[in-house]
Amino acid sequence: MQNPKPGVPTREQIRRAPKVLLHDHLDGGLRPGTVVDIARETGYDALPETDPDKLGTWFRAAADSGSLERYLETFAHTCAVMQTRDALVRVAAECAEDLAADGVVYAEVRYAPEQHLEGGLTLEEVVEAVNAGFREGERRAREGGNRIRVGALLTAMRHAARSQEIAELANSYRDSGVVGFDIAGAEAGYPPTRHLDAFEYMKRENNHFTIHAGEAFGLPSIWQALQWCGADRLGHGVRIIDDIEAGPGGQVSLGRLASYVRDKRVPLEMCPTSNLQTGAASSYAEHPIGLLRRLYFRVTVNTDNRLMSGTSLSREFEHLVEAFGYTLDDMQWFTVNAMKSAFIPFDERLAMINEVIKPGYAELKAEWLFDQATSERPLASGSARGE
Ligand SMILES: [Zn+2]
Repeated sequence: MQNPKPGVPTREQIRRAPKVLLHDHLDGGLRPGTVVDIARETGYDALPETDPDKLGTWFRAAADSGSLERYLETFAHTCAVMQTRDALVRVAAECAEDLAADGVVYAEVRYAPEQHLEGGLTLEEVVEAVNAGFREGERRAREGGNRIRVGALLTAMRHAARSQEIAELANSYRDSGVVGFDIAGAEAGYPPTRHLDAFEYMKRENNHFTIHAGEAFGLPSIWQALQWCGADRLGHGVRIIDDIEAGPGGQVSLGRLASYVRDKRVPLEMCPTSNLQTGAASSYAEHPIGLLRRLYFRVTVNTDNRLMSGTSLSREFEHLVEAFGYTLDDMQWFTVNAMKSAFIPFDERLAMINEVIKPGYAELKAEWLFDQATSERPLASGSARGE
């Protein structure tokens, strides 16, 4: 008998499958109840709702509204409740716990230290609080039977002028929990080349960075991020699709930049639901991830902002499985892509792939094979009655 291709995973299997997350914002993933709690404790009274369920709905609606003003307001509220050491420890610990409960085994979670100084913390104190929270969350997850490893990425804001300082901060904590550097914020008008000093510094230090590029803004932003700044990965990178022509007969031709991205195996940190909310794609089925996966770009699947998008990494995979009929093999491919693209050392990435990811998928595929064999086999006449 031919070995059947392990099939479309159930929701349960998607959750249990080991997953790797490279693009998730700490200030975009708080539990609504935590936002309410900390606001009460710290006297922040500007929340639009104080009932956690209603607040969760408000966050999603604001992100869905198509209004940039309302979308940015969501982060004003989450950042407002992340200004003390206790709050940062709690938010980071819950982030690690929530990801672990969702089956994420390795995550790189990013945040901008410069946005957490209003309560008098220093940049170093912010980094140390978040690190302590991640360690606490990893410990609690382990006690609950889930194992996860979380690394931090330090983000500088594109419109601000602190990128060099933040890059130096990332470098000084590289042996204690910080695995790389990023820049984020409005793309239009703030090209990544404004922060060349910071990127060149990271390169001189043999350190790693990713750049939010090619989300709202097109190919020039991706080109600059790669060829001027030397980014190791692209945050989103979804507009690379503009350099790919698909003919009516299904033939596809890649422009120079798209070829470069594929040839050099540049990791694309794709965030489908977030892209739908910002209008970078119109539906899951039409999201460029489908074509990019078929063309074997180094695509990874991510959440971006779990609170604003009402999502989790499992939910992102559910949407893709529904839209494209992805199988456990596809899920494993995306997951291995992500692990290969992580910023931790090569031997540690390899160990995660060989000791955690592959065995995890092998177990799920074995379940699938047994289910196939036992559900499709016709009952032999007589034997079913025990004769
Ligand atoms: Zn992002």
